Amino acid sequence: MADDDYDYLFKIVIIGDSGTGKSCLLSRFTNDEFSLESKSTIGVEFATKTMDISEHKIKAQIWDTSGQERYRAITGAYYRGAVGALLVYDITRQSSFENVDHWLKELREHADNNITLMLVGNKSDLADTGRQVSIEQAKEYASESEMLFFETSALNASNVEVAFKTVFERVYDTVP
Ligand code: GDP
Ligand code: MG
Repeated sequence: MADDDYDYLFKIVIIGDSGTGKSCLLSRFTNDEFSLESKSTIGVEFATKTMDISEHKIKAQIWDTSGQERYRAITGAYYRGAVGALLVYDITRQSSFENVDHWLKELREHADNNITLMLVGNKSDLADTGRQVSIEQAKEYASESEMLFFETSALNASNVEVAFKTVFERVYDTVP
């Protein structure tokens, strides 16, 4: 399939504290069809992946922060036009879960009102030894804030595909 042969283009952003595994999730998801394009002027990168949803070709353009989240220096350009967002925390780091509040505020300030939100608890492979955030706690928070929710592991690929796909399907259902 030609790269620009698609019916819809969806811009999705990934945000969350540094070290939660955002870049690993992105490369895990897009690995089989990887094209990482640098946009050095605004200091972000995105990867694309095309998939079928309800007999339409959806091209997802998924933006990654390339590290500025460390300085909370993400600009409005990052969020502009985004129809979906993954808010990632690390299930072994409570502070990254608490900071989801901050990222949610950023979104409310900069992103479109009806953006599709998904809370993602990453590093589920470490649940047995290092879990600090319970599934119940995360689920409750997600439903209060009207976010979808998945626990994922970029390391063993658990739930990565289904999490992204669920966002795209929800976006597909909400975008007129
Ligand atoms: P980012 O700063 O949010 O983009 O995080 P990175 O994708 O750079 O990952 C930060 C660190 O977490 C790296 O050392 C990764 O190898 C590790 N990491 C990412 N995802 C997982 C995961 O699902 N499980 C485990 N155990 N480690 C992970
Ligand atoms: Mg990163």
